[in-house]
Amino acid sequence: MSNIQKFYQGLEVSTKAGKAPYTIESGQGAYLTINGTKKLNFCSSHYLGFAVDERIKQAAIKAIEKYGLGTGYRTLAGTHELHLKLEEALAHFKGTEKAVVLSSAYMANCAAIQTIIGKEDIVISDELNHASIIDAVRLSGVKNKMIYKHADMTSLEEKLKEADELRRTPKTNGETPLILIVTDGVFSMDGDLAPLPEIVNLAKEYEALTMVDDAHGEGVLGRGGRGIVNHFGLEGEVDIEVGSLSKAFSVMGGFIAGKKSLIDFYLLKARQRLFSIALTIPDTAAALEAVTILQESDEVVTKLWDNTKYLRSELQKYGFDTGNSETPITPVMLGDEEIAKEFSTKLFAEDVFATPIVFPMVAKGKARIRVIPSAAHSKEDLDRGIAAFVKVAKELNVL
Ligand SMILES: *Cc1c(COP(=O)(O)O)cnc(C)c1O
Repeated sequence: MSNIQKFYQGLEVSTKAGKAPYTIESGQGAYLTINGTKKLNFCSSHYLGFAVDERIKQAAIKAIEKYGLGTGYRTLAGTHELHLKLEEALAHFKGTEKAVVLSSAYMANCAAIQTIIGKEDIVISDELNHASIIDAVRLSGVKNKMIYKHADMTSLEEKLKEADELRRTPKTNGETPLILIVTDGVFSMDGDLAPLPEIVNLAKEYEALTMVDDAHGEGVLGRGGRGIVNHFGLEGEVDIEVGSLSKAFSVMGGFIAGKKSLIDFYLLKARQRLFSIALTIPDTAAALEAVTILQESDEVVTKLWDNTKYLRSELQKYGFDTGNSETPITPVMLGDEEIAKEFSTKLFAEDVFATPIVFPMVAKGKARIRVIPSAAHSKEDLDRGIAAFVKVAKELNVL
């Protein structure tokens, strides 16, 4: 067998165990259609129901009629006026001086770190940070990366002390190494928050830059969904805010928000912007409409939280362990992986769609079903889902 044949055979062996995910045949609202059957959508990060929102659909349709579909490389063909409008709206929404939009939050994390951090700088990262942050740190080529224990400020301070020692050796160009502290805002497996006020205080004390990835915070936390920085009243205190347009905003795209000088630097230098396409017209128009809706009223965000509180208190009333979430992410802790998988399969038979989360997404023995209510659910929808959980739990004897 040639080495190339061996390569292809190896690929087959390592994909055999993977289960094909479901195919969805409908929009992503309160319900989904899978195999021709309507299922309650109980685990989507379209928190606000915007994936099927009429106003947002109309905004995208109108923009397509006016401008068509694709845009161009902003540095070659030019920036579209819709991109500028969206960036202005996002900066205003986040309470920062300026924002730049990229094609995803994965890209935005890579741009945010790679553009300003070099080999000889220092990055300190929460151990549970999202994969896109881990990849972004790798891409920067930084030698000194330090991992602190999840949300543990004693551990962070130890790393800062270490970094402070390392920083005494100047870089080859004579400058002092930068220290960047980076964290998810909301940790998406447990729904807990980064202790941002404490992180900001430590960063001030040790002269470090701060970066928060607020992918699950936008549209959810803070006044009218302005995110984790607004939630903690820290506007202007976090250097780099990364956001996603794929979660609550329900389209695709990512952005970086911060001080004008920093964003101007990204606009000019970020490779993810120079060498990758800008957002399409419908994505840009839809995201702009979503931000406009949130600026005008906090009605949908309030509904999301009402649904969250109701769902959680009902599940707890029936004896489910829903972890320590501070957001709509509601982990129903089951522990055993096989039970979590069987639980999800049985829910599916009850026409409730909620996928199991198992190792390596979470630690061994911490398997769960991650339920996420949305503003699109009615109380009757939630009651249906809760009833299915109770029925399956009784069948599996896990309460
Ligand atoms: C989903 C997610 C991302 C990636 O967002 P995309 O816009 O889909 O690339 C990045 N960071 C966190 C914390 C996320 O949850």
